[in-house]
Amino acid sequence: MSQIDNLPPLRDVIATHQLIAKKALGQNFLLDLNLTARIARIPGDLSKMDVLEVGPGPGGLTRGLLSEGARRVLAIEKDARCLPALAEIAAAYPGRLEVIEGDALEIDPLAHLEPPIAICANLPYNVGTELLIRWLTPPAWPPVWSSLTLMFQKEVAERIVAQPGGKAYGRLAILSQWRTDARIALTLPPGAFTPPPKVSSAVVHLTALPEPRYPANPKTLERIVAMAFNQRRKMLRAALKGAAPDIEDRLRSVGIPPTERAEQVPLEAFCALARTFDR
Ligand code: SAM
Repeated sequence: MSQIDNLPPLRDVIATHQLIAKKALGQNFLLDLNLTARIARIPGDLSKMDVLEVGPGPGGLTRGLLSEGARRVLAIEKDARCLPALAEIAAAYPGRLEVIEGDALEIDPLAHLEPPIAICANLPYNVGTELLIRWLTPPAWPPVWSSLTLMFQKEVAERIVAQPGGKAYGRLAILSQWRTDARIALTLPPGAFTPPPKVSSAVVHLTALPEPRYPANPKTLERIVAMAFNQRRKMLRAALKGAAPDIEDRLRSVGIPPTERAEQVPLEAFCALARTFDR
């Protein structure tokens, strides 16, 4: 029995179901249930929330979410080998856990959940970044979810919360901070996982703002930011030359020196620049 529920310790679950970690699926499991319960507490009181968990694996974080009182958890897992272990958790929490076998990049079950919705995941980092961008760019804002609690490589987490003036600052920081409050909630050493990855990880918590921090058309902002950071070492007047023939005037009109580089420009100024295209 574990300390947080009446189910066996995760090491026994993994041995019983022979869940040898697959590198191709980015499987680095969290086996410490006190730690997974701690991660599950990051979104706040779960008793009034539905949770979408992506990549539950043997169920460490799933058990954390359920023992912390989540109203309902819907979990999507690509690896069918994990389903029997997850079925045991579902049986221990009747009516509160549903598991879908599938690829989270192909199916989006958010419509099956009742708001408020928290999204929680410990995913391979490339899948996590792709999903983060999708969750941050829905057709309309505010999104159906209230918060995202996501594990990333520490270096990616630092890019999400980065401020202007450093190498980490770029498209991911702008996209994240424009429409959410983003913070690093927890940093974990490689040894927290089985098997240990090569680098440290961090859990980022993003809370959806009711409306974007500054007004801008999302498509225009994304286009300008992508252009600006694609050639981040160039001056903005050169990097954004293709955006408009009068780009120097536009930059000046919003107080950005045309010789500035993208990594120095705050989010508010990028939004002001985007607005010059939609007047
Ligand atoms: N949540 C578990 C934990 O914290 O121990 C497992 C984390 S492990 C880093 C990532 C999990 O995501 C694995 O179970 C893997 O099979 C699953 N996974 C990888 N790619 C996926 C995808 N595209 N869709 C759904 N699950 C995926």
